[in-house]
Order: sequence, then structure tokens, then C-alpha cells
Amino acid sequence: MSNWKARTLPFAGRLTLTKLILAVLHQRHVHAVSWPVICTPKLDGGLGLRSSRVLNSLFCMKNCWQICTHPEKLWVQVVRSKYNCGNDLLPFVGRKANSSNFWKGLCSVWEPFRKGLVWRIGDGCSTNFWFDHWIPAIPKLISEADHFVPMQEINKHVADYVDQFGEWNLSSIEHLLPPDIFNVILGQSAPGLSPDKDVLAWKNAADGEFSLKKGYEFLCPVGVSSRQKVFKLLWNWRGPERIQTFLWRLAHNSLLTNDLRMHRGMTMDPLCPVCHDELETLIHAMRDCNVARSVWINIFNGRLHTNFFTMNWMLWLEWNLLQQGDILFAVALDAIWTMRNNVVFRNIDPNVSSLVVQIQARTSCINQAFSSPLKLNQGVVYNLLHSHISWTLPPTGAFKLNCDGAVVAGSGAACGGIIRDHHGSFVVAFSCKIGLCSVVQAELWAVYYGLKLAHDIRISGDLFVESDSVITVNFVSLVNYKHVFREANQVADVLAKRGLTLLEGI
Ligand SMILES: [Zn+2]
Repeated sequence: MSNWKARTLPFAGRLTLTKLILAVLHQRHVHAVSWPVICTPKLDGGLGLRSSRVLNSLFCMKNCWQICTHPEKLWVQVVRSKYNCGNDLLPFVGRKANSSNFWKGLCSVWEPFRKGLVWRIGDGCSTNFWFDHWIPAIPKLISEADHFVPMQEINKHVADYVDQFGEWNLSSIEHLLPPDIFNVILGQSAPGLSPDKDVLAWKNAADGEFSLKKGYEFLCPVGVSSRQKVFKLLWNWRGPERIQTFLWRLAHNSLLTNDLRMHRGMTMDPLCPVCHDELETLIHAMRDCNVARSVWINIFNGRLHTNFFTMNWMLWLEWNLLQQGDILFAVALDAIWTMRNNVVFRNIDPNVSSLVVQIQARTSCINQAFSSPLKLNQGVVYNLLHSHISWTLPPTGAFKLNCDGAVVAGSGAACGGIIRDHHGSFVVAFSCKIGLCSVVQAELWAVYYGLKLAHDIRISGDLFVESDSVITVNFVSLVNYKHVFREANQVADVLAKRGLTLLEGI
């Protein structure tokens, strides 16, 4: 995959690409999560990919199914006679010297395949009473027998234990089986005098038909585990796929923290690069480190669970993903991780207040995109989330003011803005209520207050002004004043809306 420049794709993109090419390519890639885990079903924490080995077994099982249930097909007749399978519905399958790859494959899955078969009784003439699986809850009656089953009984079919009226006639074997098992047999409707033949069915399919999907569930059953709940929440999480896959990596504890890197011999220093105080474990990085801690306290502002900082990792993820603020929670996790990477790789000091503003702005954007009626139009959602419209850094030494106005009929107008430096770091922000006015006026007030603030705190260097209102840009003929799309101006947008809830003034 390296030739595909896969490294430049985000994790979510790589997952999609992998799904696409997996059918033809058995690839081994260094992942922080192991390949068998990736191949487990989604609810068990995997990505639902099927390993090519399992897929191959499934196709062989499909051939077994055809040989058992479609004796009328020409190729089935050829194979059955070539390998001496006999005339019973359930063929005799055995390895032969010099057999084809096709037959070898079929033999290799025959035993597990047989375990998935169950007989549906018609006239009861094809099903062996003691050895075949014909009662759903009991794989083989012979293994339930209390006593030695006499030779004359052992080859009997289900139909042999029925009287001339089509009712059970089990008196000759009643003493061989424990009473509870005997009652289960009596509870089955007797074959009667049915004109239908017995048929083979696939055990875990409602319609009895074998399919690749049902075969897969049979080969790789979904175990019930405590982790399932988290993965269920995770796959139902409604937000951008990039953050969803990020959550998946969190649930697997697979982000490369220093603690994990040290275990893998990738570093000698297991300490947290932000506080240098404790081991950088995942829970420290995402929750307990001082910066992360103040972010959580700020964004949940009084709504923090009493055990928020003491729960264990999985419980913490589960509990928070269950809450109303699950989008906020996930976005905050993502932002905290990005912030830590910025500290390590770009030497940018963490700034709690700008992080909080950024998290709130992104959350409101995602909430809008995933809950608005516009979501019916996939194109719109796509544009909102994936468009290349995003905030860009001002040139070195310069600052950028993003501002916006908001008007709500009846409750007046407000404006807000934020000034950031050429690292994108937060300098100052404001929200302000401005009585009754039009949208254009509110936008102009936003520019005015923003410039006034910049002047008051003595910003040195060029100041770029951005607003999402085209009309305002046309009104104000300032140098460096530029129209941007709302997505690039989202922080200012949030601040402006917040201004609506304030009393008059900044
Ligand atoms: Zn720390």
C-alpha cells in the first residue's frame, strides 16, 4: 500500500481503501492494532474486515452446501460420482490421493460445515435417529444416551420410531435415554405420514439457507463481552468518520503515547511531554493531565459526573458516549490529542481557552450538519464537513480577526469575534450584545468592536479581518478585509450567537 501514498490518507480513508482492495490483496501492515482484532466483527471491537483465509473457507462451505442440497445440478452429480459420495442427501466425504484442489478445500471445511447442518424432518426416512442432528437443542442423541444402544437400534431412522398412525412409538428405547431428553423428543411433532422428504437446513439461518453471511457468523460467532457496549455506542455515534475511527483507536488503547512507545522500545522516556509529571498513559493524556483536566472542567462546566476523574478508561468512554454531550465529548478528545501533538511536534504551547472555544465551535458545526433537515441532501452535509473551506493562518508576524454578527427576531442582535496570531493561537475574543439592528449592522458592529479591541490591547503587526458577510465586506473598504465562508468563520459565529445571551455591552 506504500505505493499508493497511503500514509497521506487519514485513518478513515485508509479503512475504506483497505475494504476495497482486501478481496484481492492479502496485505500485512504495521498497525497499532493487530490484524486478527481488525478482522473481528464490529461489535467486538474489530473493523468488520474478513480475513482472506476465512473468506476462502466460506466459499468452500458454499460448495459443500450445493453438494448436499442440489443433487440435480450437473456439476454436483459429476463430483459426487467422481469422489464416491454415495446417494444419500448427506454425501460421504473423504480425502483421496491425487484429488483436485477443489476437493481438498471441500474436505478441509467438511467437519465444521457438518456441525452447522440440521435436518428438517419430512417423512423421517433419511435422518438417522441417533447420529444426525435433527432436534435443534441436541446435536446427537447417541451422546445423550444413559445406556449402551443395541446394534439393532443404532441404524434406525426417525421414521422407524413412528407407529402406523404417524405417532411416536418410543417404548423400545425409553429406558436408554434420561427422562428430560426423552420428553424433548416427545415434544417434537412426530413425522406423521408426511409425503415430503427430509431436507438439510443451515442451523443459524431463519430460512434454513446457507449464505456467506450466515456461514461467517457460524465460523466467527459474536461473543458477548463487556466491551461490546462501548463498540455499539461507537458505531452508532453520529459524527464525522474521522473522529469515529479516532474513538475506535481510543477504545483499543492504541494511540502511541510515550508509555506505549516505551513498551515497544521506541523511546526511553515514558513521561508526559506536557506536564513532565506522570507516565503518559492514554487516560493521563486524554483526561488526567492538567491541560486536559481544565478543558473538561471548562466545557462541561458544572455538568461533570462526580466520578468523572476516577472512572476506569472503558467505563469513562462508555459513560460519556451515552450522554447528551457525546458529540462535544468526542470532539474534545480529538482536540486534546491534536493539542498534545502540537506540543510535541510543533512546539506550540497549549492554550485552554482557545481549545475550549474551538471545541464548542466544532461541536455546534457538527450538530448542525448531522441534525438539520438538510441532512437529507447528502451533498450538503458532505460540503459542510469535508469542504476545503477552513480557517487559514495569517502570514508570519500578522494577526487575524474573525468576526460575525447574529440577529434573533425579538431578542435583538449581537456580535462576536476572535483574534489569533500566525500560529493560530488564541489572543483575545469578545462577545457583545448590541440592541436592535439589522444583520448587516450587526456584522459591521462586529468589525468595529474587533478593531477597537485590537487597538486597545495594542496588537503590533498587520491585522487581517475576515467576515462571512459579503455585504459588510463591500461596505468597509479596508485593506486586508476579506470575505470568507461561514465554515472558516465558525468561531466568530459561535461568539456572536453567545452574545445574544449576554446583557447589553461587551
Ligand atoms: Zn501530563
